[in-house]
Amino acid sequence: MKDRSLLMIPGPIEFEPAVLGAMGAPTTSHVAPDFIETFGRAIEGLREVWHAPTGQPFILAGSGTLAMDTAGANLVEPGDRVLVLSTGVFGDRFVDLLGRYGTQVDVLRTVPGETVDFDAVRDQLASADYKLMTATHVDTSTAVRVNAQTFGALGAEFGVLTILDGVCSVAGEEIRQDEWQLDVVLTASQKAIGVPPGLALVVAGPRAIQAFENRTTPVQNYYADWAKWLPIMRAYEDRRPSYFGTPAVNLVCALACSLELILAEGMETRWARHAVIGEAMRAAIHALDLGQIPTSDDHAANTLSAPRIPTGLEPPRLLSGIREAGVILAGGLYPELRSAYFRVGHMGAVRTGDLLATIGAIESSLASCGYPVSVGDGLRAAQHVLAA
Ligand SMILES: *Cc1c(COP(=O)(O)O)cnc(C)c1O
Repeated sequence: MKDRSLLMIPGPIEFEPAVLGAMGAPTTSHVAPDFIETFGRAIEGLREVWHAPTGQPFILAGSGTLAMDTAGANLVEPGDRVLVLSTGVFGDRFVDLLGRYGTQVDVLRTVPGETVDFDAVRDQLASADYKLMTATHVDTSTAVRVNAQTFGALGAEFGVLTILDGVCSVAGEEIRQDEWQLDVVLTASQKAIGVPPGLALVVAGPRAIQAFENRTTPVQNYYADWAKWLPIMRAYEDRRPSYFGTPAVNLVCALACSLELILAEGMETRWARHAVIGEAMRAAIHALDLGQIPTSDDHAANTLSAPRIPTGLEPPRLLSGIREAGVILAGGLYPELRSAYFRVGHMGAVRTGDLLATIGAIESSLASCGYPVSVGDGLRAAQHVLAA
């Protein structure tokens, strides 16, 4: 029997063999001509995946939280007023983060499962002079998706910079950074971009770079300072050697490989594939009568799902049954609801067969835990969506 489980958590995900192969190539110098070429291609690829022809990409060694930190650190100055739209744990992370840089942070927090109410955002923006606002495209703790296009449009209308945390959405959910007037869109390598953990990926639009250049105080974060990294990113793109901090050479090679695969699939095709997989997963959740954290399928993410756990069933018991059936899933993350739900990641290289294996494992674990499930109902509902 193949001694391997299927990893279906919201990052890290299953990676393409070619990406892992690229990562395993002998490490070269960070100023070797072939590595400079690879880094340059990765920068150009980011612009295409983000749909950000005028954007400035940054590829830094670090996790998604560093991507958030670099966006915040470079765009705010002490005394700035900022607005955080929070739909879960990762939205709340921005409150703490931006506060560290001496800003006055206001939060509009939704009830878990609800998406952002943009009428309330509009009222809030009209009530004070904000420099910047943040939103989490897909909050991985609630599986709630926010309308990124409306978010960008409101920011542009009020002249407020927008940071979209796309860690659980970029390369899975539709994003058109330039067209949607999003100033910063960021992610991490281990999610839908499909590269092992370790890269923080940020694309800053012209208004963001302008705001950075207009600063009157230094960036209060040494490693994340765009003043250090802008010349490096520009040098790699011009195919010139440069150095500030050693890049994660092997991860950048893996990134260039993954971006090539993503662009070969095509963004529209990729978004559509995620939409079908998300819909199939939700169809299974409904057919099994589990319920989910998002209060409507209209704002449920396509990159992960958050099914509820039947009352009386302990999450560890359900998840270990699923693991015995060969699939690794994640527990709940939202503090007040932690034991009420679990999380299924379905992004990146995910195939329909992976999804069916996952649904089958959930059904068999529910059955062996004594939940009155009609085994096969979830699979049938998902197959129905996949066949359509
Ligand atoms: C995973 C995630 C993060 C944090 O990324 P790390 O790589 O764990 O630091 C931030 N925001 C969202 C939406 C995420 O899904």
